[in-house]
Amino acid sequence: MLKAREIMDIILAITIDYGQRAKEKEIACSRNLCRELGINHKVVKLEFMQEIESGLNASSPLNDTSPWVPNRNGLFINLAACYAEHLQADYILCGFNREEAQDFPDNSAAFIVAVNQSLYYSTLNHVKVESFVKDLDKVEIIKEAIKMGLDFNKTWSCYRNTEYPCGQCPSCRRNIAAFKKAGLNYEDYIHTGNY
Ligand SMILES: [Zn+2]
Repeated sequence: MLKAREIMDIILAITIDYGQRAKEKEIACSRNLCRELGINHKVVKLEFMQEIESGLNASSPLNDTSPWVPNRNGLFINLAACYAEHLQADYILCGFNREEAQDFPDNSAAFIVAVNQSLYYSTLNHVKVESFVKDLDKVEIIKEAIKMGLDFNKTWSCYRNTEYPCGQCPSCRRNIAAFKKAGLNYEDYIHTGNY
């Protein structure tokens, strides 16, 4: 979002409540960050997603070692495309990156190409998906974010609903490993409550 603001007008930021365990944190962080940056923000609630079992869903057993949510990114992009066409926006911006694409095919550059082909037909203004971090891994993203002055405590990437990032779920472990690989001390950047 910080990078996008340098080169385009952001009309709307959307956070989706799909019953995920971390939704309160995700909504609070995105709402606060958008307020700070002067960006319109909307929360869209997808009640039916409660019925879809996944390790991230608060109504499913805690199993965030398998965080796959059936067709999540496909659904979210198409939802965002409704707003994008309605608001005459050219792009939907996502945070898909090279590292997560290895585990999740719906984060990959190939998925972006494929979904853009679909959106060409399903939106009259030919909305496109873009990710400014699609060629970067987590280490490169962290370095870039630090350069842009991001306060990581204003973001939430943990899968759980804890006061501080849990340090145990796959997302926290990925973050901790990336800070280490970047030669940085995780706790210098992210409050952990000293776990
Ligand atoms: Zn976590």
